[in-house]
Amino acid sequence: MFDKILIANRGEIACRVIKTCRRLGIRTVAVFSEADRHARHVRLADEAICVGPAAARESYLVAERIIEVARATGAQAIHPGYGFLSENEAFAEACAAADIVFIGPPVAAIHAMGSKSAAKALMAQAGVPLVPGYHGDDQTPALLQQQADAIGYPVLIKASAGGGGKGMRVVERSEDFAAALASCQREAASSFGDDRVLIEKYLLEPRHVEIQVFGDTQGTVVHLFERDCSLQRRHQKVVEEAPAPGMSAERRAAMGKAAVDAARAVGYVGAGTVEFIVDRSGAFFFMEMNTRLQVEHPVTEMITGQDLVEWQLRVAAGQPLPLTQDELAIHGHAIEVRVYAEDADAGFLPSIGRLQHLGMPRESAHVRIDTGVEQGDEITPYYDPMIAKLIVWDESRPRALQRMAQALMQCRIVGVTANIGFLERLVTHPAFVEGQFDTGLIGRQLAQLCPPTQAAAETAWQLAALAQLLDEQARSDVASPWHADGWRMNGAQTRTLTLLNGGEERSIQVDYAAQGYVLTLDGRRCAVRGERRDDGQLLAELDGQPQFATVVRDGERLHVFTDAIHGAVFTVIDPLAHAGEDSDAHGGLVSPMPGKIVALLAEVGVPVDKGAPLLVLEAMKMEHTITAPSAGVVRSFRYPVGEQVAGGAELLEFEASA
Ligand code: ADP
Ligand code: ADP
Ligand code: MG
Repeated sequence: MFDKILIANRGEIACRVIKTCRRLGIRTVAVFSEADRHARHVRLADEAICVGPAAARESYLVAERIIEVARATGAQAIHPGYGFLSENEAFAEACAAADIVFIGPPVAAIHAMGSKSAAKALMAQAGVPLVPGYHGDDQTPALLQQQADAIGYPVLIKASAGGGGKGMRVVERSEDFAAALASCQREAASSFGDDRVLIEKYLLEPRHVEIQVFGDTQGTVVHLFERDCSLQRRHQKVVEEAPAPGMSAERRAAMGKAAVDAARAVGYVGAGTVEFIVDRSGAFFFMEMNTRLQVEHPVTEMITGQDLVEWQLRVAAGQPLPLTQDELAIHGHAIEVRVYAEDADAGFLPSIGRLQHLGMPRESAHVRIDTGVEQGDEITPYYDPMIAKLIVWDESRPRALQRMAQALMQCRIVGVTANIGFLERLVTHPAFVEGQFDTGLIGRQLAQLCPPTQAAAETAWQLAALAQLLDEQARSDVASPWHADGWRMNGAQTRTLTLLNGGEERSIQVDYAAQGYVLTLDGRRCAVRGERRDDGQLLAELDGQPQFATVVRDGERLHVFTDAIHGAVFTVIDPLAHAGEDSDAHGGLVSPMPGKIVALLAEVGVPVDKGAPLLVLEAMKMEHTITAPSAGVVRSFRYPVGEQVAGGAELLEFEASA
């Protein structure tokens, strides 16, 4: 086995590989770009070396630089993860030339499967069933059109060199073919540097079912069963599970055999995935082979109890596969979701920023989290905006689904917009729950999966108000106007707290009670009290009912999470921040809260412009500036600096100019 390996990747996959290496006592070398200097994989690895600027093309994709680092650090092997250099023949060759083990298949296998067209030709020879279509070398547009017409519409045009759902065009009618072909070729040329295409019959309501295969250098090839990855958006996987719902033992055996045949046909060694598309009748057809570890490999690990990265390392070190086909079995059911920093409700726009709060479920035998970030880290615009993969396991699919719904409720993310709500609606969607779904489900149900933002529940308003009150209390000391007996005895024990949620502004009356507060919202009273804990936790009691919540503060905004509330966002409307705006331009400016005068900023009798700062009031350890409601002059200040004033006290006399 190796003593030291280099990981030519970043993010969750780099962290995941490091974890296995650590368990096996293998030292790890991370590489990173300037944008990833403080990234989790850099912190976790034994050594870390910067390989260039943020752009992957200038860092993670520079093969020579990475091999140089492997040499310099004495790494014997390179794990490429997925994406980046993982399916790059030239890189695998360069590793061999430098006498470094590439943890992946032989160059010839990468080559054979690198072109979807060439792979299909090979698979046809090996007797693996193919989707009806054309994958020939002749790329004359007229010939392609003729082929598409013969296949029958709808057809799918794919970039032969494609991946990641890019460069695919569904064509419904013969007259649309030429334009779709041209646009597919353009995208293929710019994304993959190769404009060749293939054409397939576009299957309706299909499932994506793929088989995990593994080969060793002794020539043994096994499969580790299937994964269903049918929940896709724009041909990209969103949710994956194993085993596939509705899979019969016979079909599993047949697909497993086809996948193993496919792998054998190219002399496959290491981890690979043979992707099939399954039609409504259950017939399956080869689509492509991914010659690397897949993003969704954890679901296979969860149902087989195996560590596929360990298998990869053993195979790369020349050892035989740890288990034979007969020793492999499926236990239970696993589901993975890809948690992304993206705004599902805004067309899945990636969301970048700092993960101000990252609360995830606790890991256990049932819950696994693969992530490349921690609270406080940045989601940058340079790489894929994945926050984490959340994987659950249980004895049966219904129980695993329940686990997933629960686990998603515990994902509490502030700082970037995450797709948690979308995933939650997806995994509880009846069609998915019943196992009656296909690759078009998300597209068809988009409106339902991304509903307009719902009004926050009453509880959310109460929790937000309570958190605000407790935070104010924590910020103030004993001498605070809110808690000093002085002002209480003066009577003002009631105030109004105004919160804004999704365009709805509500004023909550707050009465100070011996323990906690009584909130009145739309005439309904609720006694609340609670305790703030670390990291936004709020142990609340609402009318005597305990309620565990997370309320994360982000400036004037409060993000409320509970088992039933998915990050409702409230803005605290500070009356002092806008004091004066609603007042009469003439007359007295009134203190909306009890506080202390800390500064007088205008001179009596000297004209000021609208918005000019006149006076600073300190309340709850925060300073609030009272500004001029219009152009005019201050006629007099009612209190000197240092004076405590009650809520409602007139602070100054103002006269607007004519
Ligand atoms: P990529 O390299 O982008 O992964 P694939 O060939 O694996 O490309 O296809 C990606 C997805 O597109 C599949 O998972 C499936 O949902 C859809 N797809 C591919 N081929 C077909 C087809 N012939 N009919 C219907 N859907 C297809
Ligand atoms: P899989 O088929 O393994 O589930 P997908 O095809 O959905 O994975 O996505 C894997 C592809 O997505 C990679 O080949 C790469 O193009 C891209 N990708 C995703 N995440 C990353 C990452 N962290 N680093 C580099 N590439 C990534
Ligand atoms: Mg694919």
